[in-house]
Amino acid sequence: MKDSNNRKMDKELLSMGSDALRKAAINEKAKGFLLSNEVLFKIVKKAADRYIGGETLDETIHKVLYHNREGFKCSMEYMGESTYTENEANEVTNEFIRIAKEIKNQNLNSTISLDLSHIGLSISKDLCLFNLTSLCNEAEKNNIEVIISAEGTDRTDAVIEMYKKISKTNKNASITLQAYLYRTKDDFKDLIKEDGRIRIVKGAFETTENLSIPRGQKLNEIYLNYVDQLLSQKHKCSIATHHHEIQQEAKKLVQYYKVNNETYEFESLYGIQTEQLMALKEEGYATKLYFVYGKEWYLYLCNRIAEYPLNLFRALGDIVN
Ligand SMILES: Cc1cc2nc3c(=O)[nH]c(=O)nc-3n(C[C@H](O)[C@H](O)[C@H](O)COP(=O)(O)OP(=O)(O)OC[C@H]3O[C@@H](n4cnc5c(N)ncnc54)[C@H](O)[C@@H]3O)c2cc1C
Repeated sequence: MKDSNNRKMDKELLSMGSDALRKAAINEKAKGFLLSNEVLFKIVKKAADRYIGGETLDETIHKVLYHNREGFKCSMEYMGESTYTENEANEVTNEFIRIAKEIKNQNLNSTISLDLSHIGLSISKDLCLFNLTSLCNEAEKNNIEVIISAEGTDRTDAVIEMYKKISKTNKNASITLQAYLYRTKDDFKDLIKEDGRIRIVKGAFETTENLSIPRGQKLNEIYLNYVDQLLSQKHKCSIATHHHEIQQEAKKLVQYYKVNNETYEFESLYGIQTEQLMALKEEGYATKLYFVYGKEWYLYLCNRIAEYPLNLFRALGDIVN
């Protein structure tokens, strides 16, 4: 009885910490204070370094080169979302185009990942499609894949519309689908008809209750069911999760359907459960590390800790060492 009370209290404390971090992440005052205080900035940046490629593309390329040599494929994203001026959206697009050029120049084994709202979707669909086409054209010259992320539910329709449009002109675009959304069942049926890779994630954004399935066994089964369908049809896919049991079940499916390593990949965010991805690589499975870089790491760090509050202890360790 005492044990179960303690467990309940632990859970409540973790959830309280998690809520606090989510609030801290979007608190502009806290962010401003941290970024303007040299000492505090240095301390917190130490905790962020575990999860980011760096503040610049060059720093990230350094890490990508190292992990390519270790046998990981990589993906790079210039972090951010929701630009609200055309100028900013164009500048961000140029940065993504720079990634494509550097992948070629430095012969990196890397794809590009991005949020469409970062290159103009929050301003206009035309602008977004124009920028996405520029990026995909540049990347396609060298067979570089461009993977579109899934955003909040207010943007799902628009993101899918953009993906379908770009798929008509470019063969190197891929899409991310969130297993937790009820609507994904239909989107999946529709999008599996396209050749582009489908990356399956559980889903990170808060939604109203009627739109998504909460974390738990049911969601895990649904997630694996999508993976099963993709693998059985030998459709290009990314199994993007840090969930150990799901990875183990997915391994069995890869073997069962005899899927080659070009078709699927196990993908993790850099700095999260990397030892699991490393073990998969050692066993011969295709693995990919997802790097984000840029100056907006404060929000990214808070989110990584909020989704798994025990990471707070890792952050403390990183700061002290
Ligand atoms: C490559 C990649 C791309 C993604 N792209 C998108 C996207 O476009 N849109 C979107 O909505 N979401 C995206 N996500 C996030 C995703 O939706 C989940 O929120 C995130 O992956 C956590 O869910 P999970 O599958 O790892 O399982 P969870 O059920 O959240 O966690 C299962 C287990 O994984 C481990 N774990 C999970 N998170 C952490 C962590 N932060 N630190 C340490 N251990 C952890 C723990 O052991 C935990 O018990 C992406 C994730 C990945 C890996």
